[in-house]
Amino acid sequence: MQMEGKVAVVTGGAAGIGQATAQKLCELGARVAILDRNAEAAQATIAALEKSGHTASFYRCDVTVESEVKAAMAAAVAHYGALHILVSNAGIQRYGDVVTTTSALWDETMDVHVRGCFHATKYAIPAMLASGGGAIVVVASVQSFTAINNSVAYVAAKHALLGITRSIALDFASQNIRANCVCPGAIETPMLRETAEQTGSPEKMLESIGRMHALGRIGRPDEVANAIAFLASDDASFITGTSLIVDGGLLVPTGGMGFQESGIGTGEKV
Ligand code: NDP
Repeated sequence: MQMEGKVAVVTGGAAGIGQATAQKLCELGARVAILDRNAEAAQATIAALEKSGHTASFYRCDVTVESEVKAAMAAAVAHYGALHILVSNAGIQRYGDVVTTTSALWDETMDVHVRGCFHATKYAIPAMLASGGGAIVVVASVQSFTAINNSVAYVAAKHALLGITRSIALDFASQNIRANCVCPGAIETPMLRETAEQTGSPEKMLESIGRMHALGRIGRPDEVANAIAFLASDDASFITGTSLIVDGGLLVPTGGMGFQESGIGTGEKV
């Protein structure tokens, strides 16, 4: 993989998976624009990237606000003169079942994930077309295929991202634009840490989440960034409209790791 001469936009690039992705794309030679609502975190990320000799810039925007995304995307494209890669990654985690979820929480979750991706792709694609084509990677989730309890809005939003990605892949294939999803399992980021902190014992919570994965641990942001970079690169030139699950084997065991560890079905340990 090499990305010399490429320009990339990463939404939610100030922290977590987006931050690791910005770094990875920079290391591969891309010039990177971070679009994020968290200016403080973004400035720190940009400073760290520039300190290590990379070319990166920050445009503050809330992905739920169309005018802000439009302006930020236009500013990034004007600055670098092209756009070849979009990583639509900004997201939030919210909890509730269909009864306890308020309309406001439903709207907030759907707005950040679904409307945010709609806005980012809507304003990135014309710039990609003007640049001769490009690659879009949408950060979805294992919850695009399955569900965890008490997370109906998040699960619905992540399912919807598969549909947006497939539609883009189909609508723009003839114009040299590819679109794919990366679907992570649990990844050690500020988002996951915040969720864990809401429980009485965060370290115990993180450890038990780790054990749900066949590899026995939570993933690192750079491990997701590697997959994103591959799908964004020319090495993935015949891959479009699909999803790459990056979950340390979370979705593999029938009945979950607890069932596996019980020994039932092994024929030996029962
Ligand atoms: P983090 O919270 O660590 O980082 C997300 C970044 O996106 C933050 O800088 C955040 O700003 C920003 N952001 C949030 N909402 C908006 C918005 N409306 N407009 C602009 N920027 C925004 O999250 P992760 O790195 O963990 O998650 C990244 C993506 O990966 C998300 O889509 C998430 O759903 C997905 N994912 C994460 C998993 C995990 O275990 N971590 C697992 C599977 C998928 P602020 O600090 O202000 O919130």
